[in-house]
Amino acid sequence: MITSETLSALDCEDPLAPFRDQFDLPEGIIYLDGNSLGPLPRRTLARLIDVTREEWGQSLITSWNKHGWIDLPQRIGDKIARVIGATPGEVIAADSTSVNLFKLLAAACALRPGRKVILTEAGNFPTDIYIAEGLVSVLGDGYEVRTVDKENIATAITDEVAVVMLTHVDYSTGEMLDMAPVTAMAHAAGALMLWDLAHSAGAVPVDLNGAHADFAVGCGYKYLNGGPGAPAFLFVAARHQADARQPLSGWMGHAAPFDFEQRYRPAEDITRYLAGTPAILALVALEEGVDLYLEADAEDLRRKSMLMTECFAALVAQECGDHGLTLASPADAGMRGSQICFRHEQGYAIIQALIARGVVGDFRTPDILRFGFAPLYLRYQDMWNAVTHLRHVMDKREWESPEFQTKAAVT
Ligand SMILES: *Cc1c(COP(=O)(O)O)cnc(C)c1O
Repeated sequence: MITSETLSALDCEDPLAPFRDQFDLPEGIIYLDGNSLGPLPRRTLARLIDVTREEWGQSLITSWNKHGWIDLPQRIGDKIARVIGATPGEVIAADSTSVNLFKLLAAACALRPGRKVILTEAGNFPTDIYIAEGLVSVLGDGYEVRTVDKENIATAITDEVAVVMLTHVDYSTGEMLDMAPVTAMAHAAGALMLWDLAHSAGAVPVDLNGAHADFAVGCGYKYLNGGPGAPAFLFVAARHQADARQPLSGWMGHAAPFDFEQRYRPAEDITRYLAGTPAILALVALEEGVDLYLEADAEDLRRKSMLMTECFAALVAQECGDHGLTLASPADAGMRGSQICFRHEQGYAIIQALIARGVVGDFRTPDILRFGFAPLYLRYQDMWNAVTHLRHVMDKREWESPEFQTKAAVT
């Protein structure tokens, strides 16, 4: 039996508790959607005002040198490298996850000539599959995207496969794949391995080099709290950097952008994965989010995240046991990311009713209620309060209200 007191006691002992105050969280909201859009760190607002007013406003174009704007994608990439088990020079902050997928899938295919298959999983996040389809349509020449169910991936990695593209933590169920053995399977068949870390970076420990991953992409606006539409990041293992080429050969990825040469010549280092001029205001916001994350102890974060998802699942069973909410995430906290999901046929309306009560989670089609647990700013007590609201929504069938039944453009 979990009580409100059990959870308060956990908050008192929580070494991460001081981080909550670093975020500008609205009063009265329990924010369980940091997996979709992380909240605003207080220092981000201060930095944005400063960079806008002083650097952009006063130093104008000299800021590219004077304030190091030109180095920001790499500087932030080096910081993100520490979050995902990479080394400096293997990661760069740029573009969106979708665009980065295009660049890296193309680079991977070119490294495996003669192999025509991009292998992925049928339940992967749609943009990953759409981007692979787009690349295949440009490549022509017999290239194809092959999607198989998660349990059939091992047998589907044949000698036709150029690259295996998988999302480490499933956006919909939170299921986490074991990176090292899956990567080893791809390599054993001669394929390259690309990981999507959208729901991993800042949420669970990641060791790309420990797993010998070849490529990875990830998101800046989710658990890294970089702000809406924050630049994403990409990783290219050092061993591939001399040979791998990406097709969006813009001037910022040129070896000498300001020589204005007639022909494209890729930079020797990770900056070859840039295309156009980086979004400086968005990058400085991302840097604040990453810096804040790096101040916390990674083991404390994982321990708290697992304990929170365990408490939440146990509380839902305890308080809402007879309301038909079934666990959609792996039952073992070690097998899932920092989220817990349930299925219910009224999932969308239940989430809307919860949001009206100040408990913000989200809905994923067809029937998934998704709750993200960001250990940097959530309290154990929030679990109790959130589940109490959920129990009220279910007991009183609040979801039946017509205003909760109509779907908005963004769910
Ligand atoms: C959130 C997410 C994305 C987002 O891609 P954008 O280009 O930022 O819109 C991509 N892949 C996965 C697995 C995600 O969860």
